Amino acid sequence: MEQKEDNLKDIISHAKEYGFVFPSSEIYDGLSATYDYGQLGSELKNNIKSYWWKAMVQMHENIVGIDAAIFMHPNTWKASGHVDAFNDPLIDNKDSKKRYRADVLIEEHMEKYRNKIKKDVEKGKKRFGDDFDEEQFLATNPNVLRNQAKIEDIENRMRETLGNGDLEGVYNLIMDLGIVCPISGSKNWTEVRQFNLMFSTELGSVAGDASKIYLRPETAQGIFVNFLNVQKTGRMKVPFGIAQIGKAFRNEIIARQFIFRMREFEQMEMQFFVRPGEEMKWYEYWKEQRIHWHKKLGLGEDNYRFHDHIQLAHYANAAADIEFNFPMGFKELEGIHSRTDFDLKQHEEHSGKKLQYFDPELNENYVPFVIETSIGLDRMFLAVLSSSYKMEDLGEGKQRAVLSLPPALAPYKVAVMPLTKKDGLPEKAREIMDTLKFDFNCIYDEKGAAGRRYRIQDAMGTPYCIMVDHQSLEDNTVTIRDRDTMEQERVAIDQLAQIIGEKVSMTTLLK
Ligand code: ATP
Repeated sequence: MEQKEDNLKDIISHAKEYGFVFPSSEIYDGLSATYDYGQLGSELKNNIKSYWWKAMVQMHENIVGIDAAIFMHPNTWKASGHVDAFNDPLIDNKDSKKRYRADVLIEEHMEKYRNKIKKDVEKGKKRFGDDFDEEQFLATNPNVLRNQAKIEDIENRMRETLGNGDLEGVYNLIMDLGIVCPISGSKNWTEVRQFNLMFSTELGSVAGDASKIYLRPETAQGIFVNFLNVQKTGRMKVPFGIAQIGKAFRNEIIARQFIFRMREFEQMEMQFFVRPGEEMKWYEYWKEQRIHWHKKLGLGEDNYRFHDHIQLAHYANAAADIEFNFPMGFKELEGIHSRTDFDLKQHEEHSGKKLQYFDPELNENYVPFVIETSIGLDRMFLAVLSSSYKMEDLGEGKQRAVLSLPPALAPYKVAVMPLTKKDGLPEKAREIMDTLKFDFNCIYDEKGAAGRRYRIQDAMGTPYCIMVDHQSLEDNTVTIRDRDTMEQERVAIDQLAQIIGEKVSMTTLLK
C-alpha cells in the first residue's frame, strides 16, 4: 500500500513536470481540490472524451449527444432531490479544526479490521505454504472471526444510523468505536451535521431566495429536462440514448487524492430511455458494453472489477460501479444505474409538463425507464495516467520514465527530430512534419543529444520518434523509433503516415 501511495506522489510530480496537470492558480499557492490541465493534459483529456463520444454516439445509431447549460432552473434540483438529499454527514475535530466525512471516518476504521484479517491470512500462507487452505482459515481462525464480527457489527450500525439519517446515532457510533482525529489524536468531536454538496450563487441583482441558483452537481439533469426536445426534434424511437460531456461541481467535504475527487470536475454521462419492464436487459447490456470499452484500452484486465450495490438509492432498482485499481487501491471509476422512471416522473410533477413517449408498436403512452452510465473524465484521466506510468530499469544503473499511454490517447503521436541543427536536416524534418501534421498531432525537437530527446518523448508518452539524418537527404528514408520497445527501424518517408496511422488510430479501439 505504502509503495502505491508513493507511486501516486511520483505520478503527481510527473504530471506537473511534463505539463499534464497543475495545481489551480498555483502562483497564489493553489486552491484545494481544483486542478488545471496543461498543454499535454488537455490533449490527453480531449482524446479520452473523443474515445467516449465516438464509442457512445458515433457507434450507436440510436444515441445522440447534447451540450446543456451548467445553470438550470432551480426547480430542477428540487425535482431531482438534490436540494433536500444531496448531503454528506460531516463532523469537526475541535482540537485540530479539521473537518471529516463521518461515514469515511467509520469506513476507514473498518478498513483497519479488514487489514488485520489480510495480515493474518498472509502469516498463515507463510507458515503453511502449499498446505494453506484460505477458505477454511477464514471460516475458523478465532482472530479472523473476531475481526469479522466487529466489521459486521459496524456495518449494521452504519445501516441503522446513516441509512436512516440518524445523525446522533452516527456520532455515538464514532464515540463507541473510539475513533480519533488522525491529526490531533483526540476524540474531541462536534456533533454530526448534514452538509449539502451543491454550490449556489445568485442570478442577476435581485436579492432573495427566488434568485438563488446552483452549479449543477451532475450533468444528467440537463439530459432529463431535454428528453422531449430531443425525442421530438430527433424523431427518436425508444430505446434511445442521450449523451453529454460537461462540468459538474460538488462542494466535497474532503477532497484529496489528486484529481480523483475534485470540487470542479467533468462527467461523461449517457441516459438510455427504454420500455418499462425491459430495463434489466438494458442494464446488463450497458454493463457489458462499458467494461468492454475500458478493457479495449489495454490498461490491464486485472485492474477492473464490478462492485454491485447492495444498498440502492431510493430511485434505483439496480446499480453497479466499475472500480479501477488506482494508486490508492480499487475505487469507483464509473457507475451504471437503473434509475427506473424516477427522474422523468419527478420532472413531470414539478414542471406540470407531460414527459411521455407514445410507443407506436404498443400503441400506448408511457414514461420511459432509464439506464444511466456515468463516468468521471478526470478519474478516467487518472486511471490512464497512473497505469501507464513506469520507471523502467535499462541496466547499468540507468532508468527511464515512460508513459506507455494507449497510442490513440497519446497527446502527441509523433516527434520529428533532425539529428543535427545543420546541413539542411532541420529543413527536411520540417518538410516531413508539414505533411504529417494534417493527420497527427506532431511535435518538433532539435535541442540536445538524440538520447535525451528520446527520453523526453518517452516521458510524454509519444508513441513514435522520427529521426532525420544525413542518409535521409540521399535516399528519403528516416529511422522511426517505437516508445515501448525502443527499437529503431529505417523506413521510407512516404510510408510514415501509414505506419503511424495503423498504430495510433482510434478505429481499432472502436471495432
Ligand atoms: P463517490 O462515491 O466517489 O463520491 P459518487 O458515487 O458520488 O462518487 P456519482 O454521483 O455516481 O459518484 O458520479 C458519477 C461519476 O462521476 C463517478 O463514478 C466519478 O467517476 C465521477 N465523480 C463523482 N464525484 C467526483 C469528484 N468529486 N471528482 C471527480 N470525479 C467525480
